[in-house]
Amino acid sequence: MTKKVGVSLKWVYLFSEGNASMIDVLGGKGTHLCEMANMGLPVPPGFVISTEACNAYYAEGEQFPPTLWDQVVEALRVVEKEMGKRFGDPQNPLLVSARSGGKVSMPGMMDTVLNLGLNEETVRGLVNATGSERFAADTYRRFIQMFGKTVLGIDASLFEAILEQFKLNVGVHLDTELSAENLKEIVSEFRRLVKAGIDKEFPDDPLKQLRLSIEAVFKSWNGRRAVDYRNFYKIPHDLGTAVSIMAMVFGNMGDDSGAGVAFTRDPATGDKTLYGEYLANAQGEDVVAGIRTPQKVDLLQQEMPDVYRELVNVAERLEANYRDVQDIEFTVEQAKLYILQTRAAKRTGRAAVKAAVDMVREGLLTKEEALLRVKPDDLRQSLFPKFDERTKEEVRNQGRLLARGLNASPGAATGKVVLDADRAAELGSSGESIILVRPETSAEDVHGMLVAAGILTARGGATSHAAVVARGLGKPCVAGCEELRIDLEGRYMTAGGMVVKEDEEISIDGSTGEVFIGRIPTIAPKLSGDSDLIALLGWANEVKRLGVWANADYPSDAARALEFGAEGIGLCRTEHIFFEEERLPIVQKMILSATEATAFQNELDRLKEEIERTYGDRQGKLKQRLAKMQEERDASPVVADYRDALAELAKFQIESFKGVLSVMAGKPVIIRLIDPPLHEFLPSYERVLVATTEFRIRGNDPAKLAESENLLRAIERMREANPMMGLRGCRVGLMFTDIYKMQVRAILTAACELAKEGIDVRPKIMVPLVGHQNEMRFVREQLEKVALEVEAEMGTMVDCKIGTMIEIPRAALIADEIAHYAEFFSFGTNDLTQYTFGFSRDDAEGKFLLQYVERGILPENPFQVLDRDGVGKLIKTAVELGRKARPDLELGICGEHGGDPSSIHFCHQVGLDYVSCSPFGVPIARLAAAQAALSVGEG
Ligand code: PEP
Ligand code: MG
Repeated sequence: MTKKVGVSLKWVYLFSEGNASMIDVLGGKGTHLCEMANMGLPVPPGFVISTEACNAYYAEGEQFPPTLWDQVVEALRVVEKEMGKRFGDPQNPLLVSARSGGKVSMPGMMDTVLNLGLNEETVRGLVNATGSERFAADTYRRFIQMFGKTVLGIDASLFEAILEQFKLNVGVHLDTELSAENLKEIVSEFRRLVKAGIDKEFPDDPLKQLRLSIEAVFKSWNGRRAVDYRNFYKIPHDLGTAVSIMAMVFGNMGDDSGAGVAFTRDPATGDKTLYGEYLANAQGEDVVAGIRTPQKVDLLQQEMPDVYRELVNVAERLEANYRDVQDIEFTVEQAKLYILQTRAAKRTGRAAVKAAVDMVREGLLTKEEALLRVKPDDLRQSLFPKFDERTKEEVRNQGRLLARGLNASPGAATGKVVLDADRAAELGSSGESIILVRPETSAEDVHGMLVAAGILTARGGATSHAAVVARGLGKPCVAGCEELRIDLEGRYMTAGGMVVKEDEEISIDGSTGEVFIGRIPTIAPKLSGDSDLIALLGWANEVKRLGVWANADYPSDAARALEFGAEGIGLCRTEHIFFEEERLPIVQKMILSATEATAFQNELDRLKEEIERTYGDRQGKLKQRLAKMQEERDASPVVADYRDALAELAKFQIESFKGVLSVMAGKPVIIRLIDPPLHEFLPSYERVLVATTEFRIRGNDPAKLAESENLLRAIERMREANPMMGLRGCRVGLMFTDIYKMQVRAILTAACELAKEGIDVRPKIMVPLVGHQNEMRFVREQLEKVALEVEAEMGTMVDCKIGTMIEIPRAALIADEIAHYAEFFSFGTNDLTQYTFGFSRDDAEGKFLLQYVERGILPENPFQVLDRDGVGKLIKTAVELGRKARPDLELGICGEHGGDPSSIHFCHQVGLDYVSCSPFGVPIARLAAAQAALSVGEG
């Protein structure tokens, strides 16, 4: 609240009047300046105009509110006194800066004006005071340029053009090579430019300059850049900016002056050493502009040991005060140190972890504070390989950025382009580093994906096959790279006019979605050796309430998940086991015989039932028919195929389940019964159609033609206009009961065998895509029967719960009904998002969804960040209804959102028991879960 001063409101605060609690009023920068001044640190004198003054300025129709200007002038007098200089004094002028700074940092989005108070007279005073014509002329030149652009709105490029032309005329390259005379002439030209632009003389009155600058900073709050930034980061628009007015100090007053930036710890590594750069005889902007190469800040130790000692002391005090790594801007004016700004330092993920953990050890932070300091995304750097940023920048500058897609799975990889999975498998297993590039991936590509260093697709989004599989494998993936044209015939791809042939090298960054031509070396991650990260995650486990489980299909994934701290497997997708190369033909045999064999069986079952209901002659006839049918069945090659395929698959499944269950001994493993539409396991319709047509045209191989025609017919039978809404999930289990029965038999057999060996197994069976309670009831009845049979056969029992996924809006809405038949729910938010929005998870991102996000129609990609208002509401409903019907119902999430920090917050808030994500995402989820527990009510 704005304070009353006498009868008027207080808009202006001297640095000595502000404190840490006033950030809303003084903004981040202003508050820190006040705090530093009050700590006795060497801050140039100054004052802060409040954010409320900015808001009042707008409320008054872009006019200064009453008394604001008087308060500014009054505060300025105090600064003059402290500096022993006067604003506008032709002998020894005080110059000031006006800097923007709101409550929330918006770096570079608003305006700042330096060197205020210069005109033809005071510039001579500057020469008097400093003895340097050049310095004064250069300062004046900078002032007119900055004021002209920022306050008077003259196109910046016009100033640049004058400067460049001048350098050309006098034959120099650098600004620093211009003489005082040159600079004076440039000043005159700049003034002429301004006059032509605003149709008035350049404002020479220092107070007018100050007033206009304050207004310009206020206005920059509502400048385009600032508004866009606030929209993007969801910063409220009514906060307003403060304006800090501070006496100028000069680092360009000779060799005992300079400007620099210092970090209290190394921002790349987090090591506790003063790190930074210093440029002698220069102003702050020269350090940033990179005209001269700054020296390392520790060299100051030799050149100006007293200044260095003081800087180290200031750094320590600031860090102790803010209890965070600081980025300090400083100037040395004639061997005297001034601190111009301090703020929390930007740092790499690695440095964030190290600094936070070290600060706990140093007693600066509590463990809880340290956990809140590190962003979950910061951990990615420690968990995935990455490109060296500098090399990446060079490569970008060389024009080698080929395309950009969706950052579908983090990490970086470099290797030869390979355009089909078979070749990828061949080259990859011989040790070549390859990037599998496909229009999109499917089950048929998995063997290539397994050995590829990275995956690039032209189509598909965050939950596309490529993205999900890559995340599970911990491999980088750029998906939905729409600008990429892949010519599978010609064996090359193009983007933006560039052509890359198969076998040429590319590099993909799955964390940013960038694709580069050529090789970029990668930096390997190291978790096991990262004792800081291990410590931080240990603390996370102490505070988090949510369990963190992993989605893992193979024993090796499960082992990795366990190493990263997974407490269970939340989703083992059994179909991924089916997709492996050697198993696919068996799966296909099963599918191609399923319809006929099942029809046979159904007919037999129906007959048996009818026999029960009839008697006499009719019953006799029916029995004869039954016997005949049984004979036919036993002789049917299709039925035999079906039976054999199921038996063979059962063997593979038992082996695979035993692997995962034994790795996860003592921990829950949720195994999901087969889910995708069956046609996904078959060759593509179009491909078989082409092959059949070719056999037909050639006409020389009737056997092959018949085989191809059979296959085509079978695929036709399975084809659906809307496969994602078709025969998939539990519907498969209900239509082809033997498939689910086989899977349950395999799970129970694996579990019982291990139990007999004394291994603590905790399998759970999950039924996918349930929408109606009866689906769950029917499936459950079947499965329980099989489970009991197996247990009886094996002579042992295992506790095996049966639950379901909640992936269909209807299931969420009648969750209480479903909970009667399910001991646990796992929210399949990939499908739940798809069906709630009606967005195809395979197509939407490539077609319109990313544009929706860009244009602000949607705040985020709902396949990456859970849509709380819609999908979240369904989850909440299901949680409440489910728990009401079954209080001990276990609740988790296994969609891709289970690894997203913001979605994890939501899961915590609605009271889920655990989240399940890819093995590599487990550490990130552990930290996010801890942060959710520490900040209940937020986010
Ligand atoms: C889901 O839909 O969220 C899920 C985990 O299942 P899938 O991605 O396999 O459809
Ligand atoms: Mg699903």
